[in-house]
Amino acid sequence: MKKTIRDIDVAGKRVFVRVDYNVPINSDLKIVDDSRIVATIPTINYLVEHGAKIILCSHLGRPNGQVEPKLSLRPVLARLSQLLNKPISFAEDILDKSTLAMSKNLKDGEIMMLENIRFYKQEEKNDEAFAKKLAALADIFVLEAYATAHRKHASTYGIAKILPAVCGFLVEQELLIFDKILNKPEHPFVAILGGAKVSDKLPVIENLLDKVDTILIGGGMAYTFVKAIGGNVGMSVVDNTKLELAAKIMDKAKEKNVKILLPIDNIGAKEFSENSEVKVFSSGFFADDYQGMDIGKKTIKMFKKVIKKAKTIIWNGPVGVYEYERFRHGTNKIAKYVAKNKGTTVVGGGDSVAALQSLGVSKKITHISTGGGASLMVLQGKTLPCVELIEDFE
Ligand code: AMP
Repeated sequence: MKKTIRDIDVAGKRVFVRVDYNVPINSDLKIVDDSRIVATIPTINYLVEHGAKIILCSHLGRPNGQVEPKLSLRPVLARLSQLLNKPISFAEDILDKSTLAMSKNLKDGEIMMLENIRFYKQEEKNDEAFAKKLAALADIFVLEAYATAHRKHASTYGIAKILPAVCGFLVEQELLIFDKILNKPEHPFVAILGGAKVSDKLPVIENLLDKVDTILIGGGMAYTFVKAIGGNVGMSVVDNTKLELAAKIMDKAKEKNVKILLPIDNIGAKEFSENSEVKVFSSGFFADDYQGMDIGKKTIKMFKKVIKKAKTIIWNGPVGVYEYERFRHGTNKIAKYVAKNKGTTVVGGGDSVAALQSLGVSKKITHISTGGGASLMVLQGKTLPCVELIEDFE
């Protein structure tokens, strides 16, 4: 296991905490959803109570290495300061001498926040000199941004190579839950995979074949599998470069006694649009001019039975085109069934999480991962580069 802030002495030390304050902000610079800020409070409070000097660092949006006033972290600072009922000082220019002085003048339990780290092009390039400047601000590095833990950036990876590195409570939670479901799951263990990026999801399936009992596949990725086993998918999205691999995976699943369930019926549309003419097709029997947009009623029923019996569930990706309300039905049903399950349920990925939120059932899920991309990498059996740099127990 990796060390956390509980496992080192932080008293009187300057602690650089890489958080994920990439919150939605509207055109009036008002924060629309502050849950990412609220989620970091236990870690910050722990550090304050244990006499650390805290330097908070985050990105916001995609300024691409340019200063964009709309993407300043000032509104985030104001919200956090309000939540903690504590003043927080702001370092406008990370590279200015005054920022280093500010970090050195912090008293125990005091907090400062750096401006949007992605205002500097050196950040995403993992520039070594830049990482050294960041490291000079602190004695200890704390990784609290799971969503960027798979990226080798200066404030996530570069700095962790220089300073003693531990994780905060949010990252600890993510590591513990993925370790539990991947290494000691209760069975039946069911994976539900959807979405469109076949190249991301196939390595996940390959890795899960040694761990799960059943894999339910929906969404755009299902059509690559249906085509791979000889079905007609009409105009549905297919990754033609992955047909062979998909067929091999189906064979391997049989050998390993893992059930892969593909949709048995589908809602097809003539055009990729909300207003298109729609028809239901059995899987593998699409009309040539239609494409799959959502799973059908029979598939929903089949998936429901499997979800009901599961003791462990991992779900990533919508089973239909979630952007269009008309094709959200399947995904919403899956969200409802997963939320009803009393076992260990873990959900990642933007659309799956959005479905749970829109139905008001997020609280019923054991763990909602804060990192879609990072959790996919973990499900592929890889270690996140930034987590690799966190100190292990001896
Ligand atoms: P991913 O990033 O791989 O999780 O994919 C999410 C995307 O998959 C969403 O934008 C969905 O609209 C898309 N998607 C889901 N089902 C389908 C489908 N049947 N056809 C095309 N795109 C789909």
